[in-house]
Amino acid sequence: MISYSETPIQELYSSEISEAGVRVLIKREDLNHPEVSGNKWWKLKYNLELAIKQKHGVLLTFGGSYSNHLYATAAAASSLGLKSIGVVRGEETLPLNPTLTFAQSKGMRLHYVSREQYQRKNDPAFLDELRQAYGDFYFLPEGGTNEMAVKGCMELGRKLVHEIDFDTLCIPVGTGGTLSGLVGALHNNQRVIGFSVFKDGSFLESEVGRWIDPGAVASWRVETRYGFGGYAKTSPALLEFIDRMQKHHGLPLDHVYTAKMLFGIMDMIGKGEIHRSQKVLVLHSGGLQGVSRTNPAEPR
Ligand SMILES: *Cc1c(COP(=O)(O)O)cnc(C)c1O
Repeated sequence: MISYSETPIQELYSSEISEAGVRVLIKREDLNHPEVSGNKWWKLKYNLELAIKQKHGVLLTFGGSYSNHLYATAAAASSLGLKSIGVVRGEETLPLNPTLTFAQSKGMRLHYVSREQYQRKNDPAFLDELRQAYGDFYFLPEGGTNEMAVKGCMELGRKLVHEIDFDTLCIPVGTGGTLSGLVGALHNNQRVIGFSVFKDGSFLESEVGRWIDPGAVASWRVETRYGFGGYAKTSPALLEFIDRMQKHHGLPLDHVYTAKMLFGIMDMIGKGEIHRSQKVLVLHSGGLQGVSRTNPAEPR
């Protein structure tokens, strides 16, 4: 299938962290594959296996024009000799941005739909219309979240539990597929904090719960204070944080997901909200494709 590189765990050292008596370890899952990276590798794993087993030649999925999921799906399909179609929210704007340029270079066919049409992304009648236009395909929902994705993320969770001892696992939350899988793999003395990347993440708790294995024993919650005004929104403080993490810790973060999470973790540590002697494992879920070429922390 898609190749996988083992990834390091990087401990973060700072005076705030040591004063709080906690430890912060970053699982650099962003380094697991150059193109199908981070949590997307795990979310795609069993979907790709199933698509091939079912003899599908085409993957079809949905995403916004900066979507890490579209990027990863295009790369994965290309390396497995599958065709891919990306249904993109909004009108085509030229020149294509780096994400869509990459997806297209991997052979992904881009199908633009209005924001209203995009709302029908899970409507079977809409999928039928797309089948009439493009022929049969393996359907991957927006963000790649489905049962197979949760299965892959549960496998990642088991790997983390096996590799390192920790009390709290922190991850960014978009659709919650990653969180759901991870929660299912942890022990009952471990917990997951998911950091919502939306303005109001309160809807996430019920969304996320939908995918969690009924036998899950770890506790979890969604932290909604660090959405920075909305999906992909930033602030000068967040950009300065990204810059500082890169300069002082050699830690690259993206402004949509991982920076909001780590900013939140550091803020909570500063406020004494993470108990002394807690070992915090932070999943670096990737997302750097959007950063390397258009680094928001770079002076413009
Ligand atoms: C897609 C993505 C997420 C969100 O994953 P969900 O399973 O949708 O919650 C988190 N981090 C990064 C870097 C991503 O690309």
